[in-house]
Amino acid sequence: MELPEINVLPVHDLFLPVQKIDFQFVPYTIDQERSILTALESEDVTAIVNNYIQLIEVCGSKNIEIEKLTAMEFILIAVNLRSKSKGEILDITTKCKKCSKPIELSVNIEDNIITDNADKVKDLCKIDENLSFEIVPVKMGFLYSIDKIKTQTDLMLETAVHSISKVFWKEDIFTDFTPETIKSQISLTYPIIKKIFESSAKLIKMTLKIDIVCGDKECGHKENYVIRDFLKYLS
Ligand SMILES: [Zn+2]
Repeated sequence: MELPEINVLPVHDLFLPVQKIDFQFVPYTIDQERSILTALESEDVTAIVNNYIQLIEVCGSKNIEIEKLTAMEFILIAVNLRSKSKGEILDITTKCKKCSKPIELSVNIEDNIITDNADKVKDLCKIDENLSFEIVPVKMGFLYSIDKIKTQTDLMLETAVHSISKVFWKEDIFTDFTPETIKSQISLTYPIIKKIFESSAKLIKMTLKIDIVCGDKECGHKENYVIRDFLKYLS
């Protein structure tokens, strides 16, 4: 008798908190992981993002459009997909802030992810009498700019241009533009990007928070370790 296809993959539900929809996925198999996660040792965010896009397409329900996801929802899916497929423990190495000795952590990602400002999915950012922006959580496209972010100014500028969903200019409302158009068409100054960045910081966000204690007996430094860019730990 020929062996039938045997599928024992459990279906998991995940609530996407910005779009407020339910997403379903099954774990990826070892075979799928081997054929897709080619950048395993890489800390290149673009490569990691591309890998997870493929995994989501293979393992996820079809009720989402990946390009329309917010970056945080994409990361939430990636974290859960990894955790249900490979195990919930993430190994992280950091440095003690006091004595600089390495601290090795095994973190349960699902237990330590916290959503802040859960109900705040947009904010109106008024620049002057004529100009305002509607600010929303950054979309997926922002993740492709992360590798290019080197300074605090880059971070503020990229976050700002990826956060604008509407431009209110005099009597008109504009919605049809890209982050690149925003850069070329609007005279963005430091005070303006700072205002947008502050507006963006008020919105829903996801962080991984862990209490850590330095293993060095003489030091024993304790801190609340916060990770925001944990995508790179998903390779
Ligand atoms: Zn220490």
